Amino acid sequence: MGTANILVFVPGKGVVLNEPSVVAIGVENNRILAVGAEAKVMIGRTPEAIVAYRPMKDGVIADYKVTEIMLRYYMRKALGGWSFVKPEVLISVPAGVTSTERRAVIEAAIKAGAKNAYVIKEPILAAIGAGIPIYEAKGHMIADIGGGTTDVAVISLGGIVASTSVKCAGNRIDESIADYIKKTFNLAIGDKTAEDIKINIGSALPLEEELSMNVKGRDMVSGLPRSVEIKTNEIAKAISKELREMIKAIKDVLQETPPELAADIIDNGIIMTGGTSALRNFPELILSKIGVKAVLAKDPLYCVAQGTGIALEHLGAYKKMIIAKK
Ligand code: ADP
Ligand code: MG
Repeated sequence: MGTANILVFVPGKGVVLNEPSVVAIGVENNRILAVGAEAKVMIGRTPEAIVAYRPMKDGVIADYKVTEIMLRYYMRKALGGWSFVKPEVLISVPAGVTSTERRAVIEAAIKAGAKNAYVIKEPILAAIGAGIPIYEAKGHMIADIGGGTTDVAVISLGGIVASTSVKCAGNRIDESIADYIKKTFNLAIGDKTAEDIKINIGSALPLEEELSMNVKGRDMVSGLPRSVEIKTNEIAKAISKELREMIKAIKDVLQETPPELAADIIDNGIIMTGGTSALRNFPELILSKIGVKAVLAKDPLYCVAQGTGIALEHLGAYKKMIIAKK
């Protein structure tokens, strides 16, 4: 359950569902009008009577009721139409959640129709999904960079040795791109366009052969639609402050890591998961700023969901990792 996307893994089937964590709600009657992909296209395009809403903020449940409805929707959809079986549900939670927040997640899942619900810390699941042997007596560093948060953790012997979470990730990059275009070109663009720019032409380091993109928005002076040509290197510069903040999170955790484990991390590299890790040249930027190699996991957007699926299929083997259950 991420701030940007929710993925559902069903044992024996794999990831059956991958949709944005967005819900569209009617303002007057508080009715849910759309969930997931259908709701995301409404962001920035809704008439006043509808709000498109992200109920997960900074990795935790910001709106309990809406999260429950969202979970029910995804569970139904994943199980397909008329299923009377109440599923066992395993949910990933950020490493830093409080016990109250954990309980809220479990309760939401039970109310949404789960028979039993368990939670496991996300960095552990990301590591399992990235194929890291977490039970080894070796240090592994995971940098999970998603939409709302950057979570960095060092794992050894199946536990988290050091970790941090900062509220700076993909969404903040999108905001700084929109700000840059507003300031430089007097052009207002929406969140979706800012994200498109990031994914299509964005880069963590300047490129010798820049990519470019035609960006449409609304002129801030005339109020009329207008387009401008944007290139990679101006975007790389515009997002450098956010990237520095994410790199600082990695440095902070490295500085707290016991020397033996630090040595392991030099050998294994920093494993990057989460959608924002896929930003062009992000591993290269980490190597140049920290001096430790960074490795992009296979399918970074899917690691946590894959790891959750693997843990659910082997609940017995991973029972030590479960931090709350009902
Ligand atoms: P969360 O776990 O918080 O839901 P995800 O790991 O699903 O987040 O990642 C979502 C973030 O990744 C979004 O900010 C999205 O814009 C970003 N993202 C996805 N693909 C790319 C890409 N190719 N380059 C840069 N950012 C990307
Ligand atoms: Mg995530």
